[in-house]
Amino acid sequence: MADKREIIDRLINKDIKIHEIEKCVDSIDEAVEIRRKFVEEISGTELKEISNYSIDMEPASKKNIENPIGTVQIPLGITGPLKVNGDHAKGDFYVPLATTEGALVASVNRGCSVISESGGVTTRILDDKMTRAPVLKAKSVIGALEIKAWINEHFKDLKKAAEVTTRHGKLIKIDPILVVGKYIYPRFVFTTGDSMGMNMVTIATDSALNLLTHKTGVHVVALSGNVCVDKKPASLNLIEGRGKSITAEIVIPKNIVKNKLKSTPEAIVEVNTAKNLIGSAISGSIGFNAQYANMIGAMFLATGQDEAHIVEGSMGITTAMEEENGDLYFAVTLPDVPLATFGGGTSIETARESLEIMDCYGNGKVHKFAEIVAGTVLAGELSLMGALAAGHLARAHKDLGRA
Ligand code: NAP
Repeated sequence: MADKREIIDRLINKDIKIHEIEKCVDSIDEAVEIRRKFVEEISGTELKEISNYSIDMEPASKKNIENPIGTVQIPLGITGPLKVNGDHAKGDFYVPLATTEGALVASVNRGCSVISESGGVTTRILDDKMTRAPVLKAKSVIGALEIKAWINEHFKDLKKAAEVTTRHGKLIKIDPILVVGKYIYPRFVFTTGDSMGMNMVTIATDSALNLLTHKTGVHVVALSGNVCVDKKPASLNLIEGRGKSITAEIVIPKNIVKNKLKSTPEAIVEVNTAKNLIGSAISGSIGFNAQYANMIGAMFLATGQDEAHIVEGSMGITTAMEEENGDLYFAVTLPDVPLATFGGGTSIETARESLEIMDCYGNGKVHKFAEIVAGTVLAGELSLMGALAAGHLARAHKDLGRA
């Protein structure tokens, strides 16, 4: 084996590439160190903190990261207790949030406190599925319609071909099947157990496509035709759902709104209508909410979810109404939150520990985790809406005082 200095020189001279270091050394840790020292030399930057980590890079380098040089650290805060009255999550939970946005954890914590005092947040799973939609090309629009008909007629065969590749993945439907000119976009919809499922459904869809192309001769242009819709905000996902479709609701007595949120149900309802509904509508937003991305992002980074899916989790609608007795009804609905308690980044040691704080790591835990996510989003959304409404009230009082 070559010594470290020699490998760094070969990297600098471009005799080997940065992904070839592993071939020249005995362990992944040596490769990480050499690659980092090479970056230090060419950039003139000492990577003292990036080099300081405790996770095992051996499994991570096989599944989660190529060309590793270390880790980044994001501060991790804890919020709670969050009282959840769900189908799967029941009781008080402490929720880890990884963020660099000061005030976020404190804000969610205030929401948790309002929730606890009001008896807890009700959470439910509305739907659960993961999708992959390839783009296929026929010889004509008539040919495309024939392929669409073939897919519908042979669903059972395609399901069998897809499910050969996976124990947990189940193909539940292929819908919609969109035809645009001679292009066809069939959306393969699976349940994926406790994993987020994108690798799983990609492999399974590919297997079904082998049967489809063999039997019909249709050409596969790309395994993903952007009707999935993966890692992009999309109305299709808002309407059809993707990942976990989740909701959380609560009725907050008006005296708690007054004492803890320093506002009124009426003011919060007005801010929700003017900001989250009308403001989002006139700006062409897909998310009709104040800050779902903040809670989704902080939970995703803490628990090893795929961070690019924050864009999907940021969509959803906040509902606020005054009850007949003057209390505040408040709900969040998130149709598209890809989540995992197994696979992907969840086995990275820090992510696993974060999931374990909520007893949400591993088999049979993803629905419980989804309900805690929904409750946490409600806590943060409520807190911000309360703060905005309190400011609105304060300004109104000031203006009235001046008049
Ligand atoms: P994964 O890390 O490969 O984990 C899923 C695998 O774990 C399954 O295939 C399953 O085997 C097995 N498994 C064991 N116990 C399970 C349980 N209780 N529930 C479900 N599965 C269980 O990957 P993934 O979840 O399919 O995909 C997540 C990864 O995909 C992330 O790392 C993400 O970044 C990446 N990703 C990929 C794409 C893509 O296009 N390929 C796109 C976006 C993200 P069986 O299949 O045999 O059941």
